[in-house]
Amino acid sequence: MNYQNFFTGALDDLRDQGNYRVFADLERHCGSFPKATARGADVANVTIWCSNDYLGMGQHPSVLGAMHDALDRCGAGAGGTRNISGTTHDHVLLEAELADLHGKEAALLFTSGYVSNWAALGTLAGRIPDCVVLSDALNHASMIEGIRHSKAERMIWKHNDLEDLEAKLAALPLDRPKLIAFESVYSMDGDIAPIREICDLADKYNAMTYLDEVHAVGLYGPRGGGIAEREGLMDRLTVIEGTLGKAFGVMGGYIAASAALCDFIRSFASGFIFTTALPPAVAAGAAASIRHLKASRAERDLQKAKVTEVRARLEALGIPHVDNPSHIIPVMVGDPVKCKYISDVLLKEYGIYIQPINYPTVPKGTERLRITPSPVHTAEDIDHLVGALGQLWEYCQLARMPLAAQ
Ligand SMILES: *Cc1c(COP(=O)(O)O)cnc(C)c1O
Repeated sequence: MNYQNFFTGALDDLRDQGNYRVFADLERHCGSFPKATARGADVANVTIWCSNDYLGMGQHPSVLGAMHDALDRCGAGAGGTRNISGTTHDHVLLEAELADLHGKEAALLFTSGYVSNWAALGTLAGRIPDCVVLSDALNHASMIEGIRHSKAERMIWKHNDLEDLEAKLAALPLDRPKLIAFESVYSMDGDIAPIREICDLADKYNAMTYLDEVHAVGLYGPRGGGIAEREGLMDRLTVIEGTLGKAFGVMGGYIAASAALCDFIRSFASGFIFTTALPPAVAAGAAASIRHLKASRAERDLQKAKVTEVRARLEALGIPHVDNPSHIIPVMVGDPVKCKYISDVLLKEYGIYIQPINYPTVPKGTERLRITPSPVHTAEDIDHLVGALGQLWEYCQLARMPLAAQ
């Protein structure tokens, strides 16, 4: 076999299908997020409108201060896996902070949200005898991979569809172990799961619940505990999973659950045991971010105001976007070539960076620009974005929505 030809051939196929991904080479400007330098053919200053650093915590003084302090106290890396010299006091403090955030007995850290889903779901579903996993159809790749890896039986229920979930639960023996895996805020449509009703079904059919709150932690609830905190449901979930890399602005993932469940994952999950612990500075920065957002709602309030403003401005121009109850604004283009084109022109001519979202991340015909307004976007940033989108909608002759009744 000619290995190089195989690689380039596969990449050519991807390009032909319009699915080849190109990185934007960015340098974010600390202290002036969402501004960044984009390096490509030409170097340009851009405003980022698609970051998952939803609240700008990646440049927050208390986060940076904690990271500098830990770096100076402890040096760069953790120096080992959690079991072999890699558990530092910063990891212990962060896990306590997370358990408290979700009102659980314990929490367990992983190197990313992806790894936390892969390892926790893989271990739970793989080690509980005869476990069946009921997985929402739109679950994130990390959950799907974890469930696959477990080799447990898997049933996929229609997205956010309680009737379909109940039909599948009812078809299983009441005493068979079951795990319902789902998310709170789904990141591409920005819709939110009916968590209370899912927990009711879990109780009725004797199932565990596993909730991915990756796009909600830091953002919702009085202390940033997520949608389950906002709805007063945290105690009803068996496992809450989250990331430290999105609204908390740093890196890492975790689960929060009972002490026994966390200890079980700690003791059996390969993806936890056999990998170097997060650097102490990362743990300290994440803990500072969580601590800040537990006490301060200023960032959440300001983000909500910016989201409302961007939505209203798009509405006024008739630019189609998904109406949803979250902070994610999917602007619908519905054509992969135009979606990529608009994103390219926004970057090159307007200094606005929004990654196009095409198939297979979203279904064909629903290609979109996913906009995430944050407290660090200014009124001028919003004017510039909305003006640019208005011009491009005109230029590309894209459909507009009927204008809202005056
Ligand atoms: C981003 C994401 C993850 C993975 O989290 P990372 O910390 O980025 O690895 C898990 N679940 C969902 C729903 C996500 O969007």
